[in-house]
Amino acid sequence: MSDQRAVSPHVLIFPLPLQGPVNCMLKLAELLCLGQIQVTFLNTLHIQERLRNCTGAEVYFKRYSNFRFDTVPDGLPEENPRTADEIWNLLQSIDAVAVPIFRCMVTSGVYGPGSENPVTCIIADGIFTFAAGIAGEIGVPLLYFDTISPCGLWTYLCLPKLIEAGEFPFKDDNLDEIIRNAPGMEGIIRRRDLPSFYRTNDVNHVTIQLVLKEDKHIPLAQGLIFNTFEELEAPILSQMLNVCPNIYAVGPLHAHLKTRLAAETGPEAQPTITSNSIWREDSSCISWLDTQPSKSVIYVSIGSLAVITKDQLFEIWHGLVNSGSRFLWVRRPGSVTGLDSETEEIPSELSRGTKERGYIVTWAPQDEVLGHPAIGGFLTHSGWNSTLESIVEGKPMICWPYFVDQQVNSRYVGEVWKLGLDMKDTCDRVVVEKMIRELMESRKNEFLERADEMAKLAKASVSEGGSSYADLDRLIDDIKFMNI
Ligand code: UDP
Repeated sequence: MSDQRAVSPHVLIFPLPLQGPVNCMLKLAELLCLGQIQVTFLNTLHIQERLRNCTGAEVYFKRYSNFRFDTVPDGLPEENPRTADEIWNLLQSIDAVAVPIFRCMVTSGVYGPGSENPVTCIIADGIFTFAAGIAGEIGVPLLYFDTISPCGLWTYLCLPKLIEAGEFPFKDDNLDEIIRNAPGMEGIIRRRDLPSFYRTNDVNHVTIQLVLKEDKHIPLAQGLIFNTFEELEAPILSQMLNVCPNIYAVGPLHAHLKTRLAAETGPEAQPTITSNSIWREDSSCISWLDTQPSKSVIYVSIGSLAVITKDQLFEIWHGLVNSGSRFLWVRRPGSVTGLDSETEEIPSELSRGTKERGYIVTWAPQDEVLGHPAIGGFLTHSGWNSTLESIVEGKPMICWPYFVDQQVNSRYVGEVWKLGLDMKDTCDRVVVEKMIRELMESRKNEFLERADEMAKLAKASVSEGGSSYADLDRLIDDIKFMNI
C-alpha cells in the first residue's frame, strides 16, 4: 500500500454560484456524504449568505459530520442582481477574484497536497475551464459536473462541427431550418431550438468563444457528471461518450437523494429534503393548493435568473386569466423590467380572474408545489432543474424558454418526450390561453398519462437496481479509488 492510501477521500465541489447549479450540486454533495466521502462545498460569499438566511447552513452540518462549506468572494458588488444579463460579468469577476484564491487553496493552502486535509478530487461546473489547469497542476483528478441538460450541452459541443461544416454562422434568418450537424439530433433540432447564444452571426462573440473554450476543456476531465437518467437521454449520452468516455448519469438528483435518505432512515421515516433555496419561500401557497381540486392548477415560474418585460408579463397574465384555469404564479422580485413598482395594482380587467382563481407568491417551495395533487401542469422557462422536478412529479409542461439550454429542453419536452407543449419564441395572450386549455383540458389525459410513465422511469432509475443508482455507486467507488 502506498502512503497515499492513508489519505481519506475528500472532494471539493465548486458550483457556478447561481441557484440552479448550487441546488443540484448540494444534492450531489449530500449523496457523496452518504457514500462516506468527505465533501468541502465552495460557495461564493454572496450565495453562502443567502443560503444561510433562507435555508440555514446548519441543516447540512446536523445531517453530515463529513460535510463543510468554504467560501470565496465572487468580486461583484453586493447590489448586483446576478440575474441572467449579469452572468458574463459574474464569470469575469470569478476569474479575476475567486480563481486565484481557489488556486491557492488547492495548490498550497488548506486543501493542498501537503496539507492535513488534502483534496483528492475536484468536482467543478463544466463552465469553469480554469479548473482543468489547476487540477492538472497538482495532479488531482477533476470531474466536470454540467448542471444543464445533456441535450443542451450536446448542442454546445456540436458548435465546432457546425462551424467546420459551414452551417454556422447561419446564412439566413430562417429559424425553422433543421440542423444538420448535431449527431443524434437528426430531424429534431431546428435553428430556433438551439441555445440562444446561437442567435448571432459573429463567431467572435464572447459567448460563442466561451462555449468553444468549454468544448476544449471538457475532454480534459477524468469524468463528466450529469443530472439526468439514462432512460430519458440515452441517445445523447451515447453521443457524449465520444467526447468523454467516462460519464455518470446520476439524476434526477433531488429524487435520488430522497431514495438514499429513505434507505438510511428506514421505510417509515419521511426524510426532509433541503430545498437549498437562496430566496425565502412563501409556503402559504401550499395551504391555498390544499383547497383546490385535483389537477386543476397550473403552476407558473420562470426560475431564478430570467428577466421579462412588462409587456410579456401582461401577455402571460391575460392568457392565464382568459384560460379560466386556476393558477399559482411565482413573481420573483426583480424579474420584470419596466414596472413602476413590484406591487403594481392589478389592472381592473384582470382583477376578478386573478382574485377568484389565482395565487401569487414571490418564491415557492417548488418541489413541494409540483408534488401537490392540485397541480395539473407547469408553465415553465424550461430550466433543467425545473424540468426534472416536473418530470419526477409527473406534471406536463408548457415551455417558454429563456436562454442557455432551455431552448433545447423545451424542444425535447414537446417533440421527443411528448411531455407538453413548446411555446418557444411566442409570448401572446391568445397562444398562452390556447396552450393552457390544451394542457389542462382538451389533451389533459394524454399528457398526464405520458408524464406518469416518465415519472415512473425517473423514480425507477434512482431506486436500487436502476441506472442512476448504479452510476452513483460507480461514482462513489471511483472517487474512493482515486485516493489510491
Ligand atoms: N425554484 C424554487 N422556487 C421558485 C422557483 C424556482 O424553489 O419559486 C427552484 C426550482 O425548484 C429549481 C431552481 O429554483 O430547483 C431553478 O433552477 P432551474 O434550473 O429550473 O432554472 P434557473 O433558475 O437556473 O434558470
